[in-house]
Amino acid sequence: MQFNPGTMKDRFTTIFIVSNDNRDTDFYTVHTKHVERFRKYITAAAASLTAILLTCLILFILIATARNEIGSLNQKIYTLKNDLKLLDSLEIKKKVENIENNINDINKYLYERGVFKYENAGGPADQSANTDANIYGFYQDKTDLILKSIKNVPIGFPHTGEFKSYFGYRANPFSGRGSEFHKGLDIKGNVGDPVKCTASGIVEKAEYDGGYGKCIVINHGNGLKSVFGHLSEFKVNQGDKVNAGDLIGLVGSTGRSTGPHLHYEIRYREESIDPQYFLNLKN
Ligand SMILES: [Zn+2]
Repeated sequence: MQFNPGTMKDRFTTIFIVSNDNRDTDFYTVHTKHVERFRKYITAAAASLTAILLTCLILFILIATARNEIGSLNQKIYTLKNDLKLLDSLEIKKKVENIENNINDINKYLYERGVFKYENAGGPADQSANTDANIYGFYQDKTDLILKSIKNVPIGFPHTGEFKSYFGYRANPFSGRGSEFHKGLDIKGNVGDPVKCTASGIVEKAEYDGGYGKCIVINHGNGLKSVFGHLSEFKVNQGDKVNAGDLIGLVGSTGRSTGPHLHYEIRYREESIDPQYFLNLKN
């Protein structure tokens, strides 16, 4: 700081300190420049304090506004979460309905083939007891029953090959004259080709049987049996328990046969039915 030697440097200021009852007095004489500086400091400090207070006030307002914003956002999130839950439950409901339709279709399919007691899925009969646990328990029981039943239904191909003769009336394959009822499906093959079981069951018969030649009959329960004729060899014995996919015999041409093929028959309550219904579940 620059001084003007003739002015500020030589000026003094006297400060009197007087007690409240005017009895004690005291005084100090200081350079005026110190008093001026002190005043400047006080002014600067007051300005700074005001600025700090203002800043605090602004911050306080900003924080309060932010708190309000957060509160309103939380409310929005809560609403959105509830909306999502609703969407989820709608989505789940739709899927359950699809499962129910599938179960109905399977029931219908098995019923039409005479192998399953028809029941409308439609959820538990007692609507008042329709808790989630009840509904899912119902579907579990239903699908367990279907799985159990389906394992005993001869499904799929016992042997892959070209179809030679279908279920139903056909010309006599030996003479070509007159017609006869063909009780099964003839699938071409070579002697020794594997013949597989098409469902769980018990071997009821594995023996030579006239026109059928070497023949296997498997009892699947529920009135269902599968029959495999013209075999060259047995791979199971009477009384054996078998599962779908097990090798039970080999293709041959024994009995009333014009060449190596498998005669495949499905019987329901001793009546032959068209095995093509059982080859796949796509139709
Ligand atoms: Zn045949």
